[in-house]
Amino acid sequence: MPPEASPAGPCIFCSIARHEAPARIVYEDEGTIAFLDKFPLSRGHTLVVPKGHVDRLTELPREQYTPLLSTLSEVCRRVERLSRHYNVGVNQGALAGQIVFHLHFHVIPRYEDQPTFPRQRRGISDEEGKEVHGLLSRA
Ligand code: AMP
Ligand code: ZN
Repeated sequence: MPPEASPAGPCIFCSIARHEAPARIVYEDEGTIAFLDKFPLSRGHTLVVPKGHVDRLTELPREQYTPLLSTLSEVCRRVERLSRHYNVGVNQGALAGQIVFHLHFHVIPRYEDQPTFPRQRRGISDEEGKEVHGLLSRA
């Protein structure tokens, strides 16, 4: 499969990065691009994307960490013009809600009239805590 294709076909974010598909681009440099989400969850919902195609963060070449984080931070700085309250997130894999399989960070401003979704929290048993800690603390 070519690097810019996903099982669903050609990659829309690669097309945007090449300026072949329309997007409201808010920031761009050599290796990264940020544009408004076409179906925003809130006013100013922005996506921050490496121009090179990778599905997920764990595939991103290390030398792109700093440029990508730098663009993310720049977009956050600008989003703070809209609201000091925002979520930064990445969906990885279909079960986590990923629908575009080209790595992207969401920056989602939150506003007073749109309080953050209610979150149900549950406790964690000792058994679960031990098991999950064991799995995640290994290098
Ligand atoms: P995810 O669910 O994390 O894969 O998010 C993909 C995001 O891309 C969604 O929030 C979509 O609204 C957004 N999206 C899909 N197509 C486009 C597009 N052509 N331009 C801008 N945003 C898009
Ligand atoms: Zn792509």
